[in-house]
Amino acid sequence: MKARKLLMIPGPIEFEPEVIQAMAIPTTSHVAPDFVESFGHALDMMKEVWLSPSGQPFVVAGSGTLAMDMAAANLVEPGDRVLVISTGYFGERYANLLARYTDQVDVLRASRGEQVSPEQIEAYLKEKDYKLMTFTHVDTSTAVLMDPRPIGELGKKYGVLTVLDGVCSVAGEEMKQDEWGIDVAFTASQKAIGVPPGLALLMASPRAMDVWKNRIKPVANYYADWENWLPIMEAYANRKPAYFGTPAVNLILALETSLRIILEEGMDQRFNRHRKIGRAFRAAMKAAGLDMIPASEDSAANTLSAPFYPEGIAAGDFLAAASAEGVILAGGLLADIKPRYFRVGHMGATTRNDLLATVGAIESALQKNGYDLKPGACLQSAQQAYDAS
Ligand code: PMP
Repeated sequence: MKARKLLMIPGPIEFEPEVIQAMAIPTTSHVAPDFVESFGHALDMMKEVWLSPSGQPFVVAGSGTLAMDMAAANLVEPGDRVLVISTGYFGERYANLLARYTDQVDVLRASRGEQVSPEQIEAYLKEKDYKLMTFTHVDTSTAVLMDPRPIGELGKKYGVLTVLDGVCSVAGEEMKQDEWGIDVAFTASQKAIGVPPGLALLMASPRAMDVWKNRIKPVANYYADWENWLPIMEAYANRKPAYFGTPAVNLILALETSLRIILEEGMDQRFNRHRKIGRAFRAAMKAAGLDMIPASEDSAANTLSAPFYPEGIAAGDFLAAASAEGVILAGGLLADIKPRYFRVGHMGATTRNDLLATVGAIESALQKNGYDLKPGACLQSAQQAYDAS
């Protein structure tokens, strides 16, 4: 019997076997010619995955929070006005983080499960002179999806830098950084980009790089300073070795492998597969009669879902039952409703089979916890929705 369970949380996720194999290669020197080629190739491919031919990629050892910090540390100076558009936990984190760099942080909060409308954002931009605004493409605590397009347009119209937290979206949700005018878009390796945890991945537009070059004060954060990292990224992109901090060699080899697999699938196909899986998963939860945090289909992410438990089901019992069925799910994250909902990651390498195994495990876990459900009802809805779209 297979002992390994399916990991269906919103990161780390299920990884491609080839990516895991790249992690097991004997570690080479970070200046070895083969590694220099792999790193350079990974930087080139990032631009294709971000759809940002004009972007400047950064790959640094650390988690997604370091990518958030890197954007803030390099682009925000004391006294700069910034606007955080918050659709959940990670918006709040960004507001706390930005407060380390400036005392002028405004937060525009969505009601739980709702998006923030472009009109609401524009009202703020008309009111004050912001240098930068951040938003979470997919907030992992609520599964709310924001449309980056109108935000990119508003950023151009008002001369405000736009920073997209794509930790739960890049390489899963549609994102065309150059075309949509997004200045910074970042992610972490353990999410839809499909590499074990440990890399912060960021892409900066020429406009963002200009703002950084014209700073008045030096960047206060030594490790995150682009002054230290830009020469390294430029060197590897030109297939030359360079050193500032030792790169995470095996993770970068795994990144190269994963980016190659992503581009072989093709970005449009990949976005579409995520849409199909997201839609099918939501159809299954609807068939089970479960409500979801996102208020509508339009505001629901395709990389993860956040369903509420039915009345009377205890979070711990449900998650243990799903695990006994071979599928690991995540609990709630928003402090005030933590025990009332669960989260399911369905991004990256997730297949139709993974989706159906997950829906089947949820169905059993609900039944075992006393919820009255017609066996197979959710599975049927998932299959129908997947195959119809
Ligand atoms: N932003 C979002 C949207 C996230 O989902 C996460 C991680 N769940 C982070 C930021 C922080 O990333 P990390 O945990 O890798 O620091």
